[in-house]
Amino acid sequence: MTHRNAYMTDELQAIYDQTVDFVANEVMPNGDDWEEAGKVPRSVLQHMGELGMLGLRVPEEHGGLGLGYLASAAFSEALGSSTYAGFDVTVLVHTDMAGPHLVNSGTQDQLDRYLPGVLAGRCVLSIGVSEPDAGSDVAGMRTRAVKDGDGWRINGSKTFITNAVYGDMTIVAARTDLENKYGISMFLVPAGTEGFTVANKLNKHGWRCSDTAELNLDDVWVSDAQLLGTPHRGFYETMKNFQNERMVLIGMGVGAAQAAIDITNAYTQNRQAFGATLFDLGAIRQRMAMNQAKVDAARASMYHAAWLGDQGIDNVKEMSGAKAWGCEVVNHVMYDCVQFHGGMGYMRETPVERMYRDARILPIGGGATEVMLEEVAKRSIVSP
Ligand SMILES: Cc1cc2nc3c(=O)[nH]c(=O)nc-3n(C[C@H](O)[C@H](O)[C@H](O)COP(=O)(O)OP(=O)(O)OC[C@H]3O[C@@H](n4cnc5c(N)ncnc54)[C@H](O)[C@@H]3O)c2cc1C
Repeated sequence: MTHRNAYMTDELQAIYDQTVDFVANEVMPNGDDWEEAGKVPRSVLQHMGELGMLGLRVPEEHGGLGLGYLASAAFSEALGSSTYAGFDVTVLVHTDMAGPHLVNSGTQDQLDRYLPGVLAGRCVLSIGVSEPDAGSDVAGMRTRAVKDGDGWRINGSKTFITNAVYGDMTIVAARTDLENKYGISMFLVPAGTEGFTVANKLNKHGWRCSDTAELNLDDVWVSDAQLLGTPHRGFYETMKNFQNERMVLIGMGVGAAQAAIDITNAYTQNRQAFGATLFDLGAIRQRMAMNQAKVDAARASMYHAAWLGDQGIDNVKEMSGAKAWGCEVVNHVMYDCVQFHGGMGYMRETPVERMYRDARILPIGGGATEVMLEEVAKRSIVSP
């Protein structure tokens, strides 16, 4: 479906169109094989790197395009059209959830060492914050890093870490100041570092082609050159990317929901029942029309929050609301799309069956709906 959006400049439209073309040609014909294999081949990210698709948020002086929130909104929405959210999240963790920490907090030496590989899709990144006992409550983190000679010794574990089974480097968050619950630092830990191991490749409900790791850090030593950002300030530095992380999850969800609506409208317009098509039934056409209106509203709220961010205006309330609302909408849409496919909607061969499973994580990951609503509520208190 043609993209219409008041925030779309020619440049953003070109990014959107290039990405939609890429997923149509490179992802959709192969996605089933990747779902089966439980991974996206490395060559796909490298191809995206060759096409310049991995550096939208990387400053121009480091070889990227130096663009802002709106570019990530357009990119993530276009990725969502792939219908393979496991692919979308593989890319977006690299470009928009892990990559920005390196860009925002990296020293010149770290940028020189790692950004060329990141832009080329040769150094695939992951971000390791969540732990078995600390998810939404990041301050409950137990992984510790203590100063040891010219470096740091890290002990602990991480879980649910996207791209960490087959990726090349994890940005690991660890507690470094025991006196302060927010005293966290970030470390660049390359795969293969002694003591840094994948304990388990996790078996998931959806996002099957995205790899998700449980990680062990057993006396892992990294040099001072691997400390990312200011010691003990990692919590605040991580927060700088929270709105972007939330946004790309909405973006990929909105793109997927639009694809599911298009697929379902086409299916119901072909399927004959009761002397006409399913789409001719008022109950179906009206509910799909309402779904379209909800997706349009979710998309508009995301782009508005993105625009605020690009103007330098605090967008926490708007982005949190868009995440809470948008990710719930995506799930309701997927439910209806399965429903209106009837029995075929329950079959593995039908795209909406996969998309329904993929969507379920969106209101949980990157800030659960309830946590997002607290962000809105805190900013809605009216002084007496
Ligand atoms: C497939 C997948 C990929 C992921 N990728 C990554 C990754 O790459 N890196 C990473 O660091 N993490 C990753 N995560 C972790 C994800 O961000 C966490 O699962 C999420 O933050 C929720 O944390 P939790 O699972 O510990 O749930 P909990 O924090 O235990 O929360 C459980 C539920 O309680 C409710 N809840 C929590 N807090 C509140 C509150 N304050 N008020 C009201 N209700 C609340 C919510 O409904 C929430 O879903 C991933 C998770 C999954 C499943």
